[in-house]
Amino acid sequence: MDEETFALLLETVRRFVDERLIPNEDRVEEEDAVPPEIIEEMKELGLFGLSVPQEYGGLGLTMSEEARVIYELGRTSFAYRSVIGTTVGIGSQGIVMDGTEAQKREWLPRLAAGMMASFALTEPGSGSDAASISTSAVREGDNYRINGNKRYITNAPRAGMLTVMARSEKDVPGARGITAFIVAADTPGVSFGKPDKKMGQKGAISSDVNFDDVIVPANNIIGGEPGRGFKTAMKVLNRGRIHLSALSSGMCHRLVQESVQYAAERKQFGQAIGAFQLVQGLIADSQTDAYAAWCMTRDLAKRYDAGEDVNRDVACTKYFASEALGRCADRAVQVHGGAGYMAEYKVERFYRDVRLMRIYEGTSQIQQTIIAKSLLREAGLNL
Ligand SMILES: Cc1cc2nc3c(=O)[nH]c(=O)nc-3n(C[C@H](O)[C@H](O)[C@H](O)COP(=O)(O)OP(=O)(O)OC[C@H]3O[C@@H](n4cnc5c(N)ncnc54)[C@H](O)[C@@H]3O)c2cc1C
Repeated sequence: MDEETFALLLETVRRFVDERLIPNEDRVEEEDAVPPEIIEEMKELGLFGLSVPQEYGGLGLTMSEEARVIYELGRTSFAYRSVIGTTVGIGSQGIVMDGTEAQKREWLPRLAAGMMASFALTEPGSGSDAASISTSAVREGDNYRINGNKRYITNAPRAGMLTVMARSEKDVPGARGITAFIVAADTPGVSFGKPDKKMGQKGAISSDVNFDDVIVPANNIIGGEPGRGFKTAMKVLNRGRIHLSALSSGMCHRLVQESVQYAAERKQFGQAIGAFQLVQGLIADSQTDAYAAWCMTRDLAKRYDAGEDVNRDVACTKYFASEALGRCADRAVQVHGGAGYMAEYKVERFYRDVRLMRIYEGTSQIQQTIIAKSLLREAGLNL
Protein backbone atom coordinates (compact mmCIF):
# COMPACT_ATOMS: atom_id res chain seq x y z
CA MET A 1 0.00 0.00 0.00
CA ASP A 2 1.42 3.42 -0.90
CA GLU A 3 2.17 5.82 1.94
CA GLU A 4 -0.67 8.20 1.21
CA THR A 5 -3.34 5.46 1.12
CA PHE A 6 -1.98 3.96 4.33
CA ALA A 7 -2.01 7.37 6.07
CA LEU A 8 -5.65 7.73 5.06
CA LEU A 9 -6.50 4.26 6.38
CA LEU A 10 -4.76 4.96 9.69
CA GLU A 11 -6.58 8.27 10.09
CA THR A 12 -9.90 6.56 9.34
CA VAL A 13 -9.22 3.88 11.96
CA ARG A 14 -8.20 6.54 14.49
CA ARG A 15 -11.46 8.37 13.95
CA PHE A 16 -13.44 5.12 14.08
CA VAL A 17 -11.84 4.31 17.45
CA ASP A 18 -12.51 7.80 18.86
CA GLU A 19 -15.99 8.33 17.46
CA ARG A 20 -17.54 4.83 17.34
CA LEU A 21 -15.61 2.41 19.55
CA ILE A 22 -14.67 4.38 22.68
CA PRO A 23 -18.21 5.83 23.07
CA ASN A 24 -19.69 2.29 22.94
CA GLU A 25 -17.30 0.71 25.47
CA ASP A 26 -19.84 0.66 28.31
CA ARG A 27 -22.46 -0.90 26.05
CA VAL A 28 -20.05 -3.72 25.10
CA GLU A 29 -19.38 -4.34 28.78
CA GLU A 30 -23.08 -4.34 29.73
CA GLU A 31 -24.28 -6.47 26.82
CA ASP A 32 -21.20 -8.76 26.77
CA ALA A 33 -21.19 -8.35 22.99
CA VAL A 34 -19.84 -6.04 20.33
CA PRO A 35 -22.93 -4.46 18.68
CA PRO A 36 -23.64 -6.12 15.30
CA GLU A 37 -23.71 -2.75 13.51
CA ILE A 38 -20.15 -2.08 14.69
CA ILE A 39 -19.02 -5.47 13.40
CA GLU A 40 -20.57 -4.53 10.04
CA GLU A 41 -18.68 -1.21 10.06
CA MET A 42 -15.45 -3.10 10.80
CA LYS A 43 -16.11 -5.26 7.73
CA GLU A 44 -16.74 -2.18 5.58
CA LEU A 45 -13.49 -0.62 6.74
CA GLY A 46 -11.67 -3.75 5.59
CA LEU A 47 -10.39 -4.55 9.07
CA PHE A 48 -10.91 -8.30 8.65
CA GLY A 49 -8.58 -8.28 5.66
CA LEU A 50 -5.67 -6.28 7.09
CA SER A 51 -3.20 -9.14 6.67
CA VAL A 52 -4.72 -10.87 3.63
CA PRO A 53 -2.72 -10.10 0.45
CA GLN A 54 -4.45 -7.73 -1.97
CA GLU A 55 -4.68 -10.36 -4.72
CA TYR A 56 -7.03 -12.33 -2.42
CA GLY A 57 -9.21 -9.35 -1.53
CA GLY A 58 -7.42 -8.00 1.56
CA LEU A 59 -5.46 -4.84 2.29
CA GLY A 60 -2.14 -6.69 2.31
CA LEU A 61 -0.54 -4.61 5.05
CA THR A 62 3.06 -5.22 6.08
CA MET A 63 3.65 -6.19 9.72
CA SER A 64 4.78 -2.62 10.44
CA GLU A 65 1.57 -1.21 8.99
CA GLU A 66 -0.60 -3.79 10.76
CA ALA A 67 1.11 -2.94 14.05
CA ARG A 68 0.17 0.73 13.66
CA VAL A 69 -3.48 -0.12 12.97
CA ILE A 70 -3.63 -2.55 15.90
CA TYR A 71 -2.01 0.07 18.17
CA GLU A 72 -5.01 2.30 17.44
CA LEU A 73 -7.45 -0.51 18.28
CA GLY A 74 -5.51 -0.96 21.53
CA ARG A 75 -6.78 2.43 22.66
CA THR A 76 -10.23 0.96 23.35
CA SER A 77 -11.98 -2.15 24.72
CA PHE A 78 -10.22 -5.42 24.11
CA ALA A 79 -13.42 -6.92 22.69
CA TYR A 80 -13.33 -4.88 19.47
CA ARG A 81 -9.88 -6.09 18.48
CA SER A 82 -10.92 -9.60 19.43
CA VAL A 83 -13.66 -9.50 16.77
CA ILE A 84 -11.02 -9.26 14.01
CA GLY A 85 -8.02 -10.59 15.94
CA THR A 86 -8.13 -14.27 15.05
CA THR A 87 -9.09 -13.61 11.42
CA VAL A 88 -6.28 -11.10 10.91
CA GLY A 89 -3.82 -13.17 12.90
CA ILE A 90 -3.64 -16.75 14.05
CA GLY A 91 -6.77 -18.03 12.26
CA SER A 92 -5.81 -17.00 8.72
CA GLN A 93 -2.04 -16.78 8.67
CA GLY A 94 -1.43 -20.51 8.35
CA ILE A 95 -3.13 -20.33 4.94
CA VAL A 96 -1.39 -17.06 3.98
CA MET A 97 2.05 -18.39 4.94
CA ASP A 98 1.91 -22.08 4.02
CA GLY A 99 -1.39 -22.71 2.18
CA THR A 100 -1.61 -24.03 -1.37
CA GLU A 101 -2.79 -21.69 -4.12
CA ALA A 102 -6.20 -23.45 -4.19
CA GLN A 103 -6.59 -23.03 -0.40
CA LYS A 104 -5.74 -19.34 -0.63
CA ARG A 105 -8.25 -18.79 -3.42
CA GLU A 106 -10.97 -20.70 -1.60
CA TRP A 107 -10.66 -19.14 1.87
CA LEU A 108 -8.80 -15.82 1.93
CA PRO A 109 -11.35 -13.69 0.01
CA ARG A 110 -14.08 -14.88 2.39
CA LEU A 111 -11.97 -14.11 5.46
CA ALA A 112 -11.06 -10.66 4.13
CA ALA A 113 -14.79 -9.99 3.64
CA GLY A 114 -15.58 -10.74 7.28
CA MET A 115 -15.86 -14.50 7.81
CA MET A 116 -14.27 -15.22 11.18
CA ALA A 117 -11.41 -17.70 11.49
CA SER A 118 -10.23 -19.45 14.67
CA PHE A 119 -6.98 -21.16 15.56
CA ALA A 120 -7.45 -24.40 17.47
CA LEU A 121 -4.25 -25.64 19.11
CA THR A 122 -4.80 -25.70 22.91
CA GLU A 123 -6.41 -28.79 24.49
CA PRO A 124 -7.48 -29.72 28.02
CA GLY A 125 -4.19 -31.59 28.51
CA SER A 126 -1.93 -29.48 26.30
CA GLY A 127 -1.30 -25.74 26.67
CA SER A 128 2.28 -24.47 26.87
CA ASP A 129 3.45 -27.92 25.81
CA ALA A 130 1.72 -27.54 22.46
CA ALA A 131 3.66 -30.36 20.81
CA SER A 132 1.88 -32.85 23.10
CA ILE A 133 -1.61 -32.46 21.59
CA SER A 134 -3.67 -35.62 21.33
CA THR A 135 -6.50 -34.67 18.92
CA SER A 136 -6.16 -37.36 16.27
CA ALA A 137 -6.49 -37.26 12.49
CA VAL A 138 -6.59 -40.73 10.94
CA ARG A 139 -6.20 -41.15 7.18
CA GLU A 140 -9.08 -42.95 5.41
CA GLY A 141 -8.56 -42.91 1.64
CA ASP A 142 -8.75 -39.31 0.43
CA ASN A 143 -9.98 -38.09 3.83
CA TYR A 144 -8.96 -37.74 7.45
CA ARG A 145 -11.18 -38.55 10.44
CA ILE A 146 -10.60 -36.06 13.28
CA ASN A 147 -11.45 -36.77 16.94
CA GLY A 148 -10.59 -34.72 20.02
CA ASN A 149 -11.24 -31.60 22.07
CA LYS A 150 -9.83 -28.11 21.92
CA ARG A 151 -10.01 -25.59 24.78
CA TYR A 152 -10.36 -21.78 25.13
CA ILE A 153 -10.61 -21.21 21.36
CA THR A 154 -11.17 -17.53 20.66
CA ASN A 155 -14.12 -16.71 18.38
CA ALA A 156 -14.89 -20.42 17.82
CA PRO A 157 -18.68 -20.15 18.22
CA ARG A 158 -18.87 -17.44 15.56
CA ALA A 159 -16.14 -18.72 13.23
CA GLY A 160 -16.77 -19.86 9.65
CA MET A 161 -13.54 -21.86 9.56
CA LEU A 162 -10.93 -23.17 11.94
CA THR A 163 -7.24 -23.90 11.56
CA VAL A 164 -6.99 -27.14 13.55
CA MET A 165 -3.80 -28.80 14.70
CA ALA A 166 -4.16 -32.59 15.03
CA ARG A 167 -1.86 -35.57 15.36
CA SER A 168 -1.93 -37.34 11.99
CA GLU A 169 1.25 -39.41 12.37
CA LYS A 170 0.44 -41.59 15.35
CA ASP A 171 3.86 -43.21 15.44
CA VAL A 172 5.70 -39.90 15.31
CA PRO A 173 5.73 -38.33 18.78
CA GLY A 174 5.97 -34.59 19.44
CA ALA A 175 5.96 -31.78 16.92
CA ARG A 176 6.72 -33.81 13.76
CA GLY A 177 3.51 -35.85 14.06
CA ILE A 178 1.24 -32.79 13.88
CA THR A 179 -0.69 -31.58 10.81
CA ALA A 180 -2.65 -28.33 10.36
CA PHE A 181 -6.10 -28.74 8.77
CA ILE A 182 -8.61 -26.25 7.44
CA VAL A 183 -11.99 -27.25 8.90
CA ALA A 184 -15.22 -25.50 7.90
CA ALA A 185 -17.12 -24.76 11.13
CA ASP A 186 -20.32 -26.35 9.80
CA THR A 187 -18.68 -29.73 9.07
CA PRO A 188 -20.78 -32.54 10.68
CA GLY A 189 -19.26 -33.59 14.02
CA VAL A 190 -17.88 -30.14 14.91
CA SER A 191 -19.58 -28.72 18.01
CA PHE A 192 -18.90 -25.87 20.40
CA GLY A 193 -19.05 -25.65 24.18
CA LYS A 194 -20.79 -22.86 26.06
CA PRO A 195 -18.93 -19.51 25.91
CA ASP A 196 -16.24 -19.45 28.64
CA LYS A 197 -16.97 -17.34 31.73
CA LYS A 198 -13.90 -15.13 31.96
CA MET A 199 -12.21 -12.71 34.38
CA GLY A 200 -12.57 -9.89 31.85
CA GLN A 201 -12.84 -9.10 28.16
CA LYS A 202 -16.62 -8.93 28.06
CA GLY A 203 -17.74 -9.09 24.45
CA ALA A 204 -14.86 -11.35 23.43
CA ILE A 205 -15.84 -15.00 23.04
CA SER A 206 -13.97 -18.24 23.54
CA SER A 207 -15.15 -21.82 23.99
CA ASP A 208 -14.27 -25.49 23.72
CA VAL A 209 -14.46 -27.08 20.28
CA ASN A 210 -15.26 -30.79 19.98
CA PHE A 211 -14.45 -32.99 17.01
CA ASP A 212 -16.48 -36.20 16.85
CA ASP A 213 -15.66 -38.27 13.75
CA VAL A 214 -15.20 -35.14 11.66
CA ILE A 215 -14.38 -36.08 8.06
CA VAL A 216 -12.05 -33.63 6.32
CA PRO A 217 -10.56 -34.06 2.82
CA ALA A 218 -6.78 -34.57 2.69
CA ASN A 219 -6.81 -31.53 0.38
CA ASN A 220 -7.53 -29.44 3.49
CA ILE A 221 -4.07 -30.05 4.93
CA ILE A 222 -2.45 -26.62 4.99
CA GLY A 223 0.30 -26.77 2.37
CA GLY A 224 -0.78 -30.28 1.33
CA GLU A 225 1.89 -32.18 3.29
CA PRO A 226 1.20 -33.96 6.60
CA GLY A 227 3.57 -33.54 9.56
CA ARG A 228 4.28 -29.87 8.99
CA GLY A 229 1.50 -28.40 11.12
CA PHE A 230 3.56 -27.60 14.20
CA LYS A 231 6.00 -25.54 12.15
CA THR A 232 3.09 -23.65 10.61
CA ALA A 233 1.56 -23.09 14.07
CA MET A 234 4.81 -21.70 15.47
CA LYS A 235 5.29 -19.33 12.51
CA VAL A 236 1.71 -18.12 12.92
CA LEU A 237 2.18 -17.59 16.67
CA ASN A 238 5.43 -15.72 16.14
CA ARG A 239 3.66 -13.24 13.91
CA GLY A 240 0.70 -13.13 16.32
CA ARG A 241 3.03 -12.13 19.14
CA ILE A 242 4.10 -9.02 17.22
CA HIS A 243 0.41 -8.19 16.71
CA LEU A 244 -0.23 -8.63 20.47
CA SER A 245 2.79 -6.44 21.30
CA ALA A 246 1.29 -3.64 19.19
CA LEU A 247 -2.04 -4.12 20.95
CA SER A 248 -0.33 -3.99 24.36
CA SER A 249 1.48 -0.78 23.36
CA GLY A 250 -1.79 0.90 22.34
CA MET A 251 -3.40 -0.14 25.61
CA CYS A 252 -0.44 1.23 27.61
CA HIS A 253 -0.99 4.53 25.82
CA ARG A 254 -4.68 4.61 26.75
CA LEU A 255 -3.92 3.81 30.39
CA VAL A 256 -1.35 6.61 30.58
CA GLN A 257 -3.95 8.99 29.12
CA GLU A 258 -6.59 7.93 31.65
CA SER A 259 -4.06 8.33 34.49
CA VAL A 260 -2.92 11.78 33.38
CA GLN A 261 -6.45 13.05 32.92
CA TYR A 262 -7.57 11.84 36.34
CA ALA A 263 -4.44 13.17 38.05
CA ALA A 264 -5.02 16.58 36.50
CA GLU A 265 -8.68 16.72 37.61
CA ARG A 266 -8.81 15.04 41.03
CA LYS A 267 -8.04 17.36 43.94
CA GLN A 268 -6.78 16.38 47.42
CA PHE A 269 -5.03 18.50 50.05
CA GLY A 270 -6.15 21.54 48.09
CA GLN A 271 -4.44 20.67 44.83
CA ALA A 272 -4.56 18.33 41.84
CA ILE A 273 -3.11 14.92 42.80
CA GLY A 274 -0.89 15.25 39.71
CA ALA A 275 1.07 17.90 41.63
CA PHE A 276 2.31 15.21 44.06
CA GLN A 277 5.62 13.77 43.00
CA LEU A 278 4.70 10.25 44.09
CA VAL A 279 1.74 10.33 41.67
CA GLN A 280 4.02 11.80 39.00
CA GLY A 281 6.32 8.82 39.56
CA LEU A 282 3.49 6.40 38.74
CA ILE A 283 2.66 8.31 35.56
CA ALA A 284 6.30 8.61 34.50
CA ASP A 285 6.90 4.88 34.98
CA SER A 286 3.86 4.03 32.88
CA GLN A 287 4.83 6.40 30.08
CA THR A 288 8.33 4.90 30.07
CA ASP A 289 6.86 1.39 29.82
CA ALA A 290 4.50 2.52 27.04
CA TYR A 291 7.28 4.16 25.05
CA ALA A 292 9.66 1.23 25.44
CA ALA A 293 7.00 -1.32 24.43
CA TRP A 294 6.10 0.64 21.32
CA CYS A 295 9.75 1.23 20.32
CA MET A 296 10.49 -2.49 20.62
CA THR A 297 7.36 -3.42 18.66
CA ARG A 298 8.04 -1.01 15.79
CA ASP A 299 11.68 -2.03 15.50
CA LEU A 300 10.71 -5.69 15.58
CA ALA A 301 7.95 -5.32 12.98
CA LYS A 302 10.35 -3.52 10.64
CA ARG A 303 12.95 -6.25 10.96
CA TYR A 304 10.28 -8.96 10.54
CA ASP A 305 9.20 -7.28 7.29
CA ALA A 306 12.83 -7.22 6.15
CA GLY A 307 12.97 -11.01 6.55
CA GLU A 308 15.44 -11.04 9.45
CA ASP A 309 15.49 -13.95 11.89
CA VAL A 310 13.74 -12.25 14.82
CA ASN A 311 12.48 -15.24 16.81
CA ARG A 312 14.28 -14.32 20.04
CA ASP A 313 13.28 -10.67 19.80
CA VAL A 314 9.66 -11.64 19.18
CA ALA A 315 9.74 -13.39 22.56
CA CYS A 316 11.52 -10.41 24.21
CA THR A 317 8.95 -7.97 22.83
CA LYS A 318 5.81 -9.99 23.61
CA TYR A 319 7.19 -10.60 27.11
CA PHE A 320 8.11 -6.98 27.74
CA ALA A 321 5.03 -5.38 26.17
CA SER A 322 2.51 -7.63 27.94
CA GLU A 323 4.23 -7.29 31.33
CA ALA A 324 4.54 -3.51 30.79
CA LEU A 325 0.82 -3.41 30.10
CA GLY A 326 0.10 -5.23 33.36
CA ARG A 327 2.19 -2.65 35.22
CA CYS A 328 0.47 0.27 33.46
CA ALA A 329 -2.99 -1.11 34.32
CA ASP A 330 -1.99 -1.60 37.95
CA ARG A 331 -0.59 1.96 38.22
CA ALA A 332 -3.67 3.41 36.50
CA VAL A 333 -5.87 1.85 39.20
CA GLN A 334 -3.53 3.27 41.87
CA VAL A 335 -3.64 6.79 40.41
CA HIS A 336 -7.45 6.60 40.48
CA GLY A 337 -7.52 5.53 44.16
CA GLY A 338 -10.91 4.10 45.21
CA ALA A 339 -12.40 5.18 41.88
CA GLY A 340 -9.94 2.86 40.16
CA TYR A 341 -11.61 -0.08 41.86
CA MET A 342 -15.08 0.96 40.68
CA ALA A 343 -16.67 -0.32 37.50
CA GLU A 344 -17.79 3.12 36.31
CA TYR A 345 -14.16 4.14 35.74
CA LYS A 346 -12.59 2.52 32.71
CA VAL A 347 -9.35 1.45 34.36
CA GLU A 348 -11.00 -1.28 36.43
CA ARG A 349 -12.09 -2.93 33.19
CA PHE A 350 -8.66 -2.62 31.59
CA TYR A 351 -7.07 -4.06 34.75
CA ARG A 352 -9.11 -7.26 34.32
CA ASP A 353 -8.98 -7.35 30.53
CA VAL A 354 -5.22 -7.05 30.12
CA ARG A 355 -4.38 -9.91 32.48
CA LEU A 356 -4.81 -12.31 29.60
CA MET A 357 -2.00 -10.72 27.60
CA ARG A 358 0.64 -12.36 29.81
CA ILE A 359 -0.96 -15.78 29.31
CA TYR A 360 -2.11 -16.44 25.76
CA GLU A 361 -0.05 -16.97 22.62
CA GLY A 362 2.73 -18.12 24.96
CA THR A 363 2.89 -17.24 28.66
CA SER A 364 5.57 -14.90 30.00
CA GLN A 365 7.44 -17.93 31.34
CA ILE A 366 7.44 -19.55 27.90
CA GLN A 367 8.81 -16.32 26.37
CA GLN A 368 11.52 -16.27 29.05
CA THR A 369 12.51 -19.85 28.24
CA ILE A 370 12.66 -19.06 24.49
CA ILE A 371 14.93 -16.04 25.12
CA ALA A 372 17.27 -17.73 27.57
CA LYS A 373 17.50 -21.05 25.70
CA SER A 374 18.37 -19.31 22.45
CA LEU A 375 21.23 -17.43 24.13
CA LEU A 376 22.47 -20.48 26.00
CA ARG A 377 22.40 -22.61 22.83
CA GLU A 378 24.58 -20.00 21.15
CA ALA A 379 26.97 -20.43 24.06
CA GLY A 380 27.15 -24.14 23.29
CA LEU A 381 24.76 -25.54 25.89
CA ASN A 382 22.82 -28.54 24.57
CA LEU A 383 19.20 -27.62 25.38
C1 LIG B 1 -9.34 -16.25 26.87
C2 LIG B 1 -8.38 -17.20 26.22
C3 LIG B 1 -8.37 -17.30 24.83
C4 LIG B 1 -7.51 -18.22 24.22
N1 LIG B 1 -7.55 -18.36 22.85
C5 LIG B 1 -6.89 -19.40 22.27
C6 LIG B 1 -7.06 -19.69 20.87
O1 LIG B 1 -7.75 -18.97 20.16
N2 LIG B 1 -6.44 -20.78 20.37
C7 LIG B 1 -5.65 -21.60 21.12
O2 LIG B 1 -5.14 -22.57 20.59
N3 LIG B 1 -5.45 -21.33 22.44
C8 LIG B 1 -6.06 -20.26 23.04
N4 LIG B 1 -5.88 -20.00 24.37
C9 LIG B 1 -5.02 -20.87 25.16
C10 LIG B 1 -3.74 -20.21 25.64
O3 LIG B 1 -2.85 -20.01 24.56
C11 LIG B 1 -3.16 -21.08 26.77
O4 LIG B 1 -4.02 -20.91 27.89
C12 LIG B 1 -1.74 -20.75 27.11
O5 LIG B 1 -0.86 -21.11 26.07
C13 LIG B 1 -1.27 -21.44 28.40
O6 LIG B 1 -1.58 -22.80 28.39
P1 LIG B 1 -2.34 -23.42 29.68
O7 LIG B 1 -3.53 -22.58 29.94
O8 LIG B 1 -2.57 -24.85 29.42
O9 LIG B 1 -1.34 -23.23 30.89
P2 LIG B 1 -0.16 -24.23 31.28
O10 LIG B 1 0.66 -24.56 30.09
O11 LIG B 1 -0.72 -25.36 32.07
O12 LIG B 1 0.71 -23.29 32.23
C14 LIG B 1 0.42 -23.11 33.63
C15 LIG B 1 1.60 -22.34 34.25
O13 LIG B 1 2.80 -23.12 34.11
C16 LIG B 1 3.80 -22.36 33.45
N5 LIG B 1 4.61 -23.23 32.61
C17 LIG B 1 4.20 -24.20 31.75
N6 LIG B 1 5.24 -24.77 31.14
C18 LIG B 1 6.35 -24.14 31.61
C19 LIG B 1 7.75 -24.25 31.35
N7 LIG B 1 8.23 -25.13 30.47
N8 LIG B 1 8.58 -23.43 32.03
C20 LIG B 1 8.13 -22.53 32.92
N9 LIG B 1 6.82 -22.37 33.19
C21 LIG B 1 5.94 -23.16 32.55
C22 LIG B 1 3.02 -21.34 32.61
O14 LIG B 1 3.82 -20.21 32.29
C23 LIG B 1 1.88 -21.02 33.54
O15 LIG B 1 2.32 -20.07 34.48
C24 LIG B 1 -6.66 -19.02 25.00
C25 LIG B 1 -6.65 -18.89 26.40
C26 LIG B 1 -7.51 -17.99 27.00
C27 LIG B 1 -7.49 -17.90 28.52
